[in-house]
Amino acid sequence: MKIRGFPAGAFQTNCYVVGDAAGGDVVIIDPGQDAAPVVRRILADEGLTPVAVLLTHGHLDHTWNAAQLCDEFGIPAYIHPDDRPMLADPAVGIGPALGAMIGDEKFAEPDKVIDLVDGDDIELAGLRFSCDLAPGHTRGSIVFGLEAETDDGPVRVSFAGDVLFAGSIGRTDLPGGSHQQLLDSIDKKLLPLPDDTVVLPGHGPQTTIGRERASNPFLADLPGAGPGSSGPGGTEHDPSAEPSNSKGRHGL
Ligand SMILES: [Zn+2]
Ligand SMILES: [Zn+2]
Repeated sequence: MKIRGFPAGAFQTNCYVVGDAAGGDVVIIDPGQDAAPVVRRILADEGLTPVAVLLTHGHLDHTWNAAQLCDEFGIPAYIHPDDRPMLADPAVGIGPALGAMIGDEKFAEPDKVIDLVDGDDIELAGLRFSCDLAPGHTRGSIVFGLEAETDDGPVRVSFAGDVLFAGSIGRTDLPGGSHQQLLDSIDKKLLPLPDDTVVLPGHGPQTTIGRERASNPFLADLPGAGPGSSGPGGTEHDPSAEPSNSKGRHGL
């Protein structure tokens, strides 16, 4: 497995180009604003062939260049049906105020869109991606999981979109957002993963499940989190250390 990641656009949204190390086929995850030129350069430089675009959720900062790349390469976009309407109408996902930043730009679904199903595995580019619905940031947020053999042994990776960040979690003030639902999703879908799972979030640096379990202040009250916890049954924490709801949040 080889993963190339870079932040793109005004929201510095991480785009990932992922493939089996041996093959030339790759999957593009979250090609947001201004991601397309960088993706094209990676593909050309390394002689790679894209086979699909995977979208962690429908927010514009993750989907901006999806239709452009899908239609250019004749490949499908995968997205959960609850977020799919945002592809053609991004304002649905970000509200009227933020919708103003779109200006006159017109958006449309890619020619080929495939609905993601919670719990399904999809095989693409010689890799098997697990798809876990993790609502709370948006209704249709999906966490893509990947387990791959590397020269250093098996590695488990989780593409978390805007569900979980290094030291933070996704914002829940946009349409479809719910703070409690987001915490429940993290508790059920991410915290059960092994500590050494690498988390590649939609914004900011990579982290691991173990690091977030131990030190992410937003997760401190969850049963599977807290200092010294490596599984269900975390320790007490000081409520005065609670972070503000906006601090450390990223993008859309
Ligand atoms: Zn988002
Ligand atoms: Zn985002």
